[in-house]
Amino acid sequence: MGNPMADAFGDEAAGDAIAPMLLHDAAHVWHPYTQHLNAPLPVPIVRAEGSWLYDLHGRPLLDAISSWWVTTHGHCRPEIVEAISEQARQLDQVIFAGFTHEPAAALAAELVSKLPRGLTRVFYSDDGSTAVEVAIKLSLQSFANRGTPRRLVAALENAYHGDTFGAMAAGARGVFTHMYEPLFFEVARLPDPSQGDALAALDALIDARGSELAAVIVEPLLLGAGGMHVWDEDVLRGIRARTQAAGVHLIADEVLTGFGRTGPLFACDRADVRPDLLCMSKGLTGGVLPLGATAATEDIFDAFRSSDRRKTFFHGHSYTANPIACAAALASLQLFDEDSEDDRVRLEVAQATQLATLRGVRGVKAVRQIGTVGAVELDATPGYLSDIGRELAAYALQEGVLIRPLGNVAYCLPPYCTTDDEIASVYAVIHRFLEGARAEALSTGGPIDD
Ligand SMILES: *Cc1c(COP(=O)(O)O)cnc(C)c1O
Repeated sequence: MGNPMADAFGDEAAGDAIAPMLLHDAAHVWHPYTQHLNAPLPVPIVRAEGSWLYDLHGRPLLDAISSWWVTTHGHCRPEIVEAISEQARQLDQVIFAGFTHEPAAALAAELVSKLPRGLTRVFYSDDGSTAVEVAIKLSLQSFANRGTPRRLVAALENAYHGDTFGAMAAGARGVFTHMYEPLFFEVARLPDPSQGDALAALDALIDARGSELAAVIVEPLLLGAGGMHVWDEDVLRGIRARTQAAGVHLIADEVLTGFGRTGPLFACDRADVRPDLLCMSKGLTGGVLPLGATAATEDIFDAFRSSDRRKTFFHGHSYTANPIACAAALASLQLFDEDSEDDRVRLEVAQATQLATLRGVRGVKAVRQIGTVGAVELDATPGYLSDIGRELAAYALQEGVLIRPLGNVAYCLPPYCTTDDEIASVYAVIHRFLEGARAEALSTGGPIDD
């Protein structure tokens, strides 16, 4: 076995004092989605710039997953850094019940001007999961407030909406959620539109239980954590038409797809769909600070305006609309205005070019793309399903590329500043892995846990 620290950091670290950060981490930190019995030591990152992360030894690592799908314009963009430091000197935090401030007000106005039409109210929270919780609660309570309670929510197979209870209930059942299933509220399940007829199932559901159905929640056009499944704009329009006719809310969870990932600012824009509620987080601040937001229609907002105080939306987080996070989001939106769509259009072409080189390659089952996101489904035998992704991730890490496959689905979801050459280097690693580096990776690379 030897010294795991030395194994993890190679000869540079062997014998030398291990950085205090790693000792403290090993002794006291509990990491997300990590099996601490056998996970490799975490990679210590000290600096980031553009599409690159730099470890303790100055070794560069290409961030091909936007640091868990958040970074949009690139790491440490000076415009965002400047806005944050200016705001931190001016107003760091203030309670948002009964008080307001310029960054939150300006950001709400700015978002409303850019969101699909009809979304006119912004409720702030902390992250993607809370943005989803808020959307579900707003839908359910708006029906209750109007004296016509509806309690049923419908969601897609293979959906992912976050890790809090309401978000887990809406998400697909699986290894991450089975423990808590007895505690979930009822959710009607519609087929993943990339695999089955979601519209027929929605018709049947509305026929049978339309008067109970409050909302249908979807990740528009891209089921992300469920395996990067791309689905059809016509189906999204069909879901909108059916929910509208049945007086059912459509919740668009754009936590991943928002802020340009699929090309336009929001995936709903690709289909010209206007949801009743839209959830944002991840790229909202450019991927720099945590912030969630749920946009709602004026009709939903109106259901809460009442002289009966019980109809208030009794929900709020300590850091609701944190001024520094809002300032980062404003600076990020400004960059979207200035940078136009050129970078994303260029990335879309680069991804398509690279994905084409993988078509028909041994070991590749399918390739998928929407906008700036490219995915490769590896042809792994069922029993091997999750292992191949971990092997590929470990191999890529040795090669200086950060990817984190979802089971047998590898994907490249880069910051928009990533160059064509950098994209090519990500796919070169996948090619080399498929061509045989995989056997080598098996003997040298440790597993990376989900
Ligand atoms: C990541 C994600 C979430 C959860 O966001 P967190 O900030 O991790 O809580 C919700 N919905 C979708 C579609 C996501 O991709």
